[in-house]
Amino acid sequence: MKVAVIGTGYVGLTTGVALAQIGHDVVCIDVDERKIASLRQGKAPFFEPFLADALDANRSRLYYTTSIKEGLVHGDVAFLAVGTPQNPNGSANLTYLHQAFASALSVLEKKASSTLLVNKCTAPVGTTESLSQEIAARGLSDQINLASNPEFLRQGCALSDNLYPNRLVLGGNAPAHETLLRLYAPIINQTFHLPAHLPRPQGLQQVPAFLVNTRTAELAKYAANAFLAMKISFINEVANMADLVEADVIQVADIIGADVRIGRAFLNAGIGYGGSCFPKDTLALRHMADTHGYHFKLLSAVIEVNNAQCIRVVEKLRDALGELRGKTIAVLGLTFKPGTDDLREAPSIPMIYHLLLEGANIRAHDPVAGDQARFVLPHKVKLCAEVQDTLEGADAVFIVTEWPLYQKLTPEVLKEKMRGNVVVDGRNCLDPRLFAGQMRYIGVGRGLKP
Ligand code: NAD
Repeated sequence: MKVAVIGTGYVGLTTGVALAQIGHDVVCIDVDERKIASLRQGKAPFFEPFLADALDANRSRLYYTTSIKEGLVHGDVAFLAVGTPQNPNGSANLTYLHQAFASALSVLEKKASSTLLVNKCTAPVGTTESLSQEIAARGLSDQINLASNPEFLRQGCALSDNLYPNRLVLGGNAPAHETLLRLYAPIINQTFHLPAHLPRPQGLQQVPAFLVNTRTAELAKYAANAFLAMKISFINEVANMADLVEADVIQVADIIGADVRIGRAFLNAGIGYGGSCFPKDTLALRHMADTHGYHFKLLSAVIEVNNAQCIRVVEKLRDALGELRGKTIAVLGLTFKPGTDDLREAPSIPMIYHLLLEGANIRAHDPVAGDQARFVLPHKVKLCAEVQDTLEGADAVFIVTEWPLYQKLTPEVLKEKMRGNVVVDGRNCLDPRLFAGQMRYIGVGRGLKP
């Protein structure tokens, strides 16, 4: 099929590449000329594992343009995949979505054949319906049908999640369902040519597709993110308890996670969730509930626990060092999780500002986001290219992102360059036993007793 994707961010571009991988011809459209220029040169405009290889492998089926007119003429199906960030009151900001929708409409109304327009953005319940009403009001319902197909990919394994999703959510009327089932048939039945670098998860033969109305699709996306955020806040509360009662939260998580009703995923205690989705989507769902007169108490607690968790871990650092003024802290990891260069809502940023306010000197490192960090962190933060430089003269090291290279750090490596001996493991990614008797290891909920 011929497909257009409006927005070449983490979702739009990886969706476009996955659709090309399963055999469709895809035009990727973006207003950002630098992104399109980079893509035309065969370069991925952001870091995502295997994306560069996949762009190359599918180059004969991928086209790039800044012209929505040129892009949409091509499509039987057109996806909207632009950002839906957060408004100051917590609601979803739909400015980009409305702009992209308006531009799409102005092209599609003149197009001879009909188009299925598919919203992939995370947007409040009722968004697709209200956009459909606009289509109807302009007398374009025969030409343009609108569907909601929320995305559940994780940055860091976006391509794999696109090709081997846990499920597809297809929200819309019967003709929309029929077109989307046709479009996604190779994924649903797992019949596409497997990319060299992305093996299919064992046992995956069929991907379930949920055919629902647009409201259910929209709510399901928010509910999924809120549930995952709840698991993180829950285990962080358990970790805070574990600190008080000298138990080990990792073992507790293994024990409760072994129960199939609970599951082990998203039960890693630490400094809390961040990124471009969980913080904004939990706030947007709460806002949505509020506007319907419903007080979503559990969700409010999830948000509150997360906001407090980072500060709680900083307090552990303060307790260990005493006064932070004049102390040097080596911050390892700036992205909100490993495998991505995304710094949006990364807990590292408010945490670093907090430490600076208390008078600490910050040296920081990130294996992929070091360069972008220059634009979001003040100049007095010393950004280092190597981990060893970051540790130079540090009183404490603070692991904020569990990148694999930090997980290999040993007391010997740390002590070689550090002045002090405090290790704050904000992601519980080190083995505390390695540090016993050598350095002061501080984890989250790791009050281990033999
Ligand atoms: P992003 O910010 O990475 O990318 C959005 C892109 O859209 C940008 O390249 C921007 O230049 C482009 N754009 C904005 N207005 C445009 C217009 N009028 N025409 C063409 N291009 C335009 O965003 P993202 O992270 O890919 O997220 C997109 C949507 O998917 C959001 O609603 C988000 O909540 C949702 N989502 C994101 C993830 C994730 O992990 N990032 C996962 C699931 C769902």
